[in-house]
Amino acid sequence: MSDVRAYRAGLVHCLDDPRSAGPDACVHHPDGLLLIENGHVAACGDWNALSPTLAADVPVEHLPGQILTPGFVDAHVHFPQLDMIASFSGQLLDWLESHTFPAERAFADRAHADDAARAFLDELLRNGTTTAMVFGSVHRTSVDALFEAALARDMRLIAGKALMDRGPDGLRDSVDQGRDETEALIADWSRHGRLGYAVTPRYALSSSPEQLTAAGEILARHDHVWMQTHLAENPREVALVAEAFPDARDYLDVYDRFGLVTDRSVFAHCVHMTDRALHRMAGCGAAIAHCPTSNLFLGSGLFDLARADAHGVSFGLGTDVGAGVSFSVLRTAAAACDVAQMKASPLNPLRAFYLATLGGARALGLADRIGSFQTGREADFVALDPAATPLLARRLRGVTDIAEILFALMVLGDDRVISRTWLAGAVAHRRN
Ligand SMILES: [Zn+2]
Repeated sequence: MSDVRAYRAGLVHCLDDPRSAGPDACVHHPDGLLLIENGHVAACGDWNALSPTLAADVPVEHLPGQILTPGFVDAHVHFPQLDMIASFSGQLLDWLESHTFPAERAFADRAHADDAARAFLDELLRNGTTTAMVFGSVHRTSVDALFEAALARDMRLIAGKALMDRGPDGLRDSVDQGRDETEALIADWSRHGRLGYAVTPRYALSSSPEQLTAAGEILARHDHVWMQTHLAENPREVALVAEAFPDARDYLDVYDRFGLVTDRSVFAHCVHMTDRALHRMAGCGAAIAHCPTSNLFLGSGLFDLARADAHGVSFGLGTDVGAGVSFSVLRTAAAACDVAQMKASPLNPLRAFYLATLGGARALGLADRIGSFQTGREADFVALDPAATPLLARRLRGVTDIAEILFALMVLGDDRVISRTWLAGAVAHRRN
């Protein structure tokens, strides 16, 4: 028996990057029909055109005033930093010592990790995020807990245990332990349901060259796993990496030497990049997770979107919670617009929306599964409420232009505008 249901609402999704393909890359149906069959998109279009083709027994839910969009993609977020978001500190390296590492030590305890995993996934879904690439702590328990919770919700999630044999006390593995636990996690979880594994060296200085070598070997051994790490986030970090690897051409080259720069690699931040590194990333299909709220919070710097574009590097948006200040990819998209303004290369609203959906899916190599309403895509989607707050309702009264609506939802919205979130066609969050 197939499970078929239809939704009548506004619909908007991207088929391509509006920067290269123009505004028609975003398709808007003010009165649309989304047909879901067995957890996948079966049709998407205008209500008037499609509704006559619906079988009489297909249930139709009408969501007047609401706008359905593909679920948001968070290309970089830290699960064990859930409880220390919004902690005041200095810049990156001080913040790690004063807030992050103490919070992550608690994840050696499975009960704590289980509790945090539930709250973390609730928070993603409350914010309309249906896929994320997630850092665990150094403890494999943290990733076991997260995968178990995500599998139970049939969520498309990529995660990995942080490799850090040069980490601080209580957050250190060894080369052998890191390798064995990573292999065990891949065997236990990768490709179970919609789960994916990312080999996760924390950053160039948290792992010994031996551990980075092992990470590259694991990545080469499994063609279905990803790699995630941090790159060129903070000037002091970049200087310390250059000191530690005097022969490397730049920071990216450090990872390259260990086989970690591939089309399955996602690098968070990339604020202080050489042209050579951007060229290399574009050439091999590696992607950037642009984390604007985190970069502002820690004073890391302003990501240069125009330079990434000039080199043709793919990028998505990362909340980077706990340095990021919001789980909302909408808010993160608004911050990306702010940062682009500071660099005098404005990011238009349709493209910001693209980055939150299909662009993020492309950065993670998942655009054939998620990120749009093309037929056959997994039915991970959200309902946005343009009247979620009194101010939004006033601002959008009578507005029909979808770019204007989306921009207001990014700038003025957050989890309050997400009225419902679906995973594989099933409701996974409903706003109270
Ligand atoms: Zn991060």
